[in-house]
Amino acid sequence: MSGLQARGVIRSYGPTPALRDVSLDVAEGEIVAVTGPSGCGKSTLLHCLAGILRPDKGEVHWRGERIDTWPEAARSRLRRTEFGVLFQFGQLVAELTAVENVALPLLLAGTGRREAGQAACEWLDRFGVADLADVRPGAMSGGQQQRCAMARALITGPRVIFADEPTGALDTLSGEEVLTQLVRFAREQGTTIVLVTHEPRIAAYADREVMLRDGVVDPTGLGLDEPLVP
Ligand code: ADP
Ligand code: ADP
Repeated sequence: MSGLQARGVIRSYGPTPALRDVSLDVAEGEIVAVTGPSGCGKSTLLHCLAGILRPDKGEVHWRGERIDTWPEAARSRLRRTEFGVLFQFGQLVAELTAVENVALPLLLAGTGRREAGQAACEWLDRFGVADLADVRPGAMSGGQQQRCAMARALITGPRVIFADEPTGALDTLSGEEVLTQLVRFAREQGTTIVLVTHEPRIAAYADREVMLRDGVVDPTGLGLDEPLVP
């Protein structure tokens, strides 16, 4: 079995149910948008799929292996190798320059400084921000920070990118630019993307949209849990 699967995933925070029974298949190379209103469980689903959170019940599989039962160290290793995560706010390290931030995953993986620095410069260049190599995040625009964050997420060559509202902090135009770039690199490298967004314009970049409602997948995507005839 290839790709990523959630099977009957249930997850609560104390008494608050976030996912009530979610099953989902994501094929390798596919770009899937997870959408739905605030509080419907999008982030929780993303965190379960990425091995950040453990479901209370149900299973998560990646390339035929059940990963939700792996110990934290193994899941964390997966997130540094085959999985990459990207959040609403780039979460760059404030004290580091762009090139240092982007090189960080390689340095942590034991790549030599020179090689990591060169690769980071290449990735900054691909995202059109090579001139920011020596700039710290505080002196960048939101869009520039998000480009650096994407370069950092992609530099290790992950097979899946989990992106939680990656354009949420940007205006519409720079949000769409950033997403266009992310999607282009994903297509070039056959990278899978699971993209959480509440913005229809952003969801439109995906191959497929999975709509959540109140912790379950809305099979129609039409919001038919609301009565048609009031
Ligand atoms: P979405 O990403 O669609 O906004 P979330 O997955 O963040 O949804 O949240 C789903 C539900 O779980 C909401 O009711 C939210 O308030 C609750 N929730 C999320 N994270 C926590 C948390 N850390 N502690 C308590 N409740 C949480
Ligand atoms: P998003 O919809 O992008 O997940 P939220 O504002 O729902 O953003 O959540 C932001 C953070 O707050 C997340 O880490 C989430 O787990 C946490 N959170 C969300 N709802 C609650 C809650 N009811 N109680 C405690 N933490 C929460």
